[in-house]
Amino acid sequence: MRAPQPRVCNGDHDDIERQRQAIRATCPEALARVERFALESFVLERWPGLAQALEIGEVDEAGLEDAADEVLRSVHGQLVGRGEGEVLHRLVARDLARHRWRALEALFHLHAAQKYAKERVVEIAAGRPLAICIGPRAQRPTSTAAGVLTAAPQGCYSIFADQTRGSGKMWPVWCDTCKPRTGRRKPHRDHDRALRRRVAALGTNPSVVWTFTRPRLDQGAG
Ligand SMILES: [Zn+2]
Repeated sequence: MRAPQPRVCNGDHDDIERQRQAIRATCPEALARVERFALESFVLERWPGLAQALEIGEVDEAGLEDAADEVLRSVHGQLVGRGEGEVLHRLVARDLARHRWRALEALFHLHAAQKYAKERVVEIAAGRPLAICIGPRAQRPTSTAAGVLTAAPQGCYSIFADQTRGSGKMWPVWCDTCKPRTGRRKPHRDHDRALRRRVAALGTNPSVVWTFTRPRLDQGAG
């Protein structure tokens, strides 16, 4: 059997947008709450001057734990509803992974340990948590005809059985098929080849190259 390749598109635009809105509609307030947490943390960490101007002295923790739980329950429901092995559209996959990761980061912040968050995820999933093959956050340097470019390799966006242990690598970003070294798919090699092909197709104008190598900011885990 041929290993799955990342899908650029596997549904029509309206259907994808409907799916994304339906996911948001499952818990809009809880999502807005964990998004506010993500924004506050980001501004405090990266732009202290802006945090001061916006009068953000510290992360507001009120209601955060309940919101994070609700988002994790909602994401799990969406994943269970679609089923293990289902390949998601990349936008749906990234939305779900981002929502999940923001909720997890809220729990990391509140409990100062990832083990607690893992226990919550396992409990919410009644012992069978699911994750999305989204690929790493970290960018990878690839030498191309236009020089060394960096971009994050992509997963296959399929739903897979998550780790249940509360230690070590608790948040896998690759399914078994894509897992570097042991999987059948070779995501790093494919990523490098795809990047080189695109550079060859577009020529070596750096401004053109930049439009597809800019960092992915919307990813859920890494
Ligand atoms: Zn995969």
